[in-house]
Amino acid sequence: MLKCLAAVVASRGAALTIEQFDLDEPAPSEIAVRIAATGICRTDLHIRDGGYPVPDFPVIPGHEGAGVVTAVGSAVADVRVGDRVLMTYPFCGECPNCLRGSLAYCEQGFALAFGGARLDGSSGWRRGDDGTRVNGHVFQQSSFASHTLAAASSAVILDRELPLELAPAFGCGVSTGAGAALNVMELRPGSRLAILGTGTVGLAALIMARHLGVKQIIAVDANPGRLEMAAELGATHTVDASDREARDAIQRLTGDGADYIFDTTGHPDVVASALDSLAMTGTVVMAGSAPAGTRTSLNMSALLNGRTVRGTIQGDSEARTLVPRLIELYRQGCFPVDRLVSGYRFGDIQRAIADMESGQVIKPILRMTNDDEDSE
Ligand SMILES: [Zn+2]
Ligand SMILES: [Zn+2]
Repeated sequence: MLKCLAAVVASRGAALTIEQFDLDEPAPSEIAVRIAATGICRTDLHIRDGGYPVPDFPVIPGHEGAGVVTAVGSAVADVRVGDRVLMTYPFCGECPNCLRGSLAYCEQGFALAFGGARLDGSSGWRRGDDGTRVNGHVFQQSSFASHTLAAASSAVILDRELPLELAPAFGCGVSTGAGAALNVMELRPGSRLAILGTGTVGLAALIMARHLGVKQIIAVDANPGRLEMAAELGATHTVDASDREARDAIQRLTGDGADYIFDTTGHPDVVASALDSLAMTGTVVMAGSAPAGTRTSLNMSALLNGRTVRGTIQGDSEARTLVPRLIELYRQGCFPVDRLVSGYRFGDIQRAIADMESGQVIKPILRMTNDDEDSE
């Protein structure tokens, strides 16, 4: 049993409060991690607001944690005590999708991410004061905490040069955008790409598209500061979504529509109208997370002309392949994720969330410790 601090959502929509918890020893397939830093992703806010129905509150969110492994379960062979790790998305490793390598589409993925528990229903989290069980294991890592238990299979081992406080920048949001650009869209220099929403996911896709040599990248957002950032990171055109009809702008800039439209907004009307801005045989790739059950309606005659609308989870990526590749590109100066992040102390989690929700910052990273060298 380990005493630790974690940020918990007490009830639907409530502010996160930092409280004391007792954490069990790792289960056989788990690792215990002393967290150095964690990103905040929009999905954490859907969990807070009940948009993704975790079975019950209170719940401890967080799914972009990085830290140092302090203990490993009895069945863990490929992660060791002292390893520095980034925790990524969970998968069962046994279902048909996992067996053919589509880990992001694990049949247990939803339960593992949003079940608030391990697959067997247990939770390693208890309240420090009265010992009652608390929902944790969000993405099998609940990283809004000083220490946590995580699935060993979703840990990516980091080399010692990467600062742990930057590591969460390569987590869920950035991997999703970069992975979509690499794995889902067949981008070529001549591709016409429009990116709807320039938060973490959209900007990561933009950086990767730029790296792949795509010559026309149209960034669409209602936030002028973010459009400025998009232009600095390589967008060839920016469209203020609040100022005029973005659809007309995409048509005008591309001639007859975009080859790819990457939606990160998760807004049903944006997805529906994206189809109308696509060239024939073009594809809308949807990565924005909408609250569960959200529906949209599509123009069927537009769809009939060879157009595709498809979604992606985690940019179809396999974390242990993609994350080291992104880190290498970052080192070469080709993937400047450090431009996307803003650091906060753990105790300022509510301010970090408010700044993210207002669009003032793109990717807040909470630092759990001031010094990540003290455990090595
Ligand atoms: Zn699976
Ligand atoms: Zn996420």
